[in-house]
Amino acid sequence: MSFQPPAHWSPPGAYRPPRYAYVIAAALAVLLVAALAVPVTIAVLRSRGDWPPTGSRDVPPSTATDGANGAGDPYFPDYGSSGYDATQYTVAVDFDPGDQTLTGRTVVAARATESLSSFYLDLALPVSRVRVDEVDAAFALEGFQDLRVTPATPIADGQSFTVTVEYAGRPGTLRRAGMDEPPWRAGTDEWIVVGEPESSAWWFPANDHPSDPALLDVSIRVPKEYQAISVGRLAGKDTAEEADFDTWRWVTSESLPTYASFLGIGHYELREGEADGRPYVYAASTRFSGDERAKLFAAMERTPALVRELEAFAGPYPYSEIGGFVPATPLWFAGLEAATRPVYVGDALLNEGYSDELLVHELAHMWFGDHVTLLQWNDIFTNEAFASWAYWEVVERRGGTPADAQLDSTYDRTRDEPDFWRVTMIDPGPARLFDTVYTRGPMTLQALNNVMGDRSFDALVRSWAQGGGTRSLEDFMVTAQARTSVDLTPFFRQWLFDPDAPEKTEANGFDG
Ligand SMILES: [Zn+2]
Repeated sequence: MSFQPPAHWSPPGAYRPPRYAYVIAAALAVLLVAALAVPVTIAVLRSRGDWPPTGSRDVPPSTATDGANGAGDPYFPDYGSSGYDATQYTVAVDFDPGDQTLTGRTVVAARATESLSSFYLDLALPVSRVRVDEVDAAFALEGFQDLRVTPATPIADGQSFTVTVEYAGRPGTLRRAGMDEPPWRAGTDEWIVVGEPESSAWWFPANDHPSDPALLDVSIRVPKEYQAISVGRLAGKDTAEEADFDTWRWVTSESLPTYASFLGIGHYELREGEADGRPYVYAASTRFSGDERAKLFAAMERTPALVRELEAFAGPYPYSEIGGFVPATPLWFAGLEAATRPVYVGDALLNEGYSDELLVHELAHMWFGDHVTLLQWNDIFTNEAFASWAYWEVVERRGGTPADAQLDSTYDRTRDEPDFWRVTMIDPGPARLFDTVYTRGPMTLQALNNVMGDRSFDALVRSWAQGGGTRSLEDFMVTAQARTSVDLTPFFRQWLFDPDAPEKTEANGFDG
């Protein structure tokens, strides 16, 4: 995700995410004080949080248990679920632009990680039928989005199973308490669902947490005058062969976190082709003028070249497709790293002083965020620090401003801003999750580069980007420490944990 800067890039405060009513700030403050009260070592840091959730593992393994209605995330306790790994979502939705009802049938393929007498999926729409392995199951919607499923017979630990959910409702009427910016947006003859840290519950049932990425196969049936866009390759756009309707099918070849999916229904110009051996689809709303669309496509068509620039230090691009999507409906951010097809806000992409940074940032997320996914939302550093630092690196490699100069000038601009440094990277809190990490994050990485040296740091970046999987900030610290003989504990304490600006010393990664 990224936020469009005003005339110049200003660090903290200007752009704030929505405030959630269920912020657990008090509890986190206690935890933070406790964490800072003990000598900080990487071994101690690894004890942060409570992962993986272990509560239900205390019973004998032969007894089926109830999966939890959250993935154990301290910031967003009801996001995701426990007890299984989702492997693929096969989503079929039908959208009626008249009454704005979305009717869906989704098959979730999963594997149990414990024996389950019941489990949860995240879905906020009304459900009419649930089957587990084709057998009807009991179900109940609890809270805003926790769909509890009780299969006729318990699922054994390690067993693969499918859940078929039939549902229908009007996503535009769903209101989550305390949420200012719901991911479902209705524009002028356009409907999109896109957002972070959540969006899938508005259109398909899922284990909606980045620690459980999965494949996505989406079919969207819409009246013929509309186009429906999502992630992955365009596998067909009239698969139902009906006179008045088209069914658009989008399929990913690699897994992605649920928040890195999107759905757009409206009127779009599409450009399809192949570049560097990868199929691409770029789509832009026809509400933009012809001249604007030409500029939007010119910007998105830079994607293959930018991917090559990123591959130079992050290693091979992790997805099989490339693309981009520009809806007309306003969003509260400038771009989101939808896997294979980032979503860009038109005004941001048309801003000539910003579009290059926006494109590089979102494309860097294909490695950092979509391929390597967050273990918990408080690991957001590993997404946004890398995506923002990647732009510094790209600019330096082009012969522009060196990343070190960016570190110095950014530091000088922020060092006397206590409110900026008060947000730590180890525990930014849910309300400031998408805040200083865009600035403190890349500074930290560039300073780490200086402390480790280019050779070790370059190897770290590439191996982290290529490793994939679900990783935490603690994993990153341990991985970095393994690549250098320098004791990184004081460095990480300063840059990731301390609520103050680091001193401008060589040990903190400044060249002096
Ligand atoms: Zn981002």
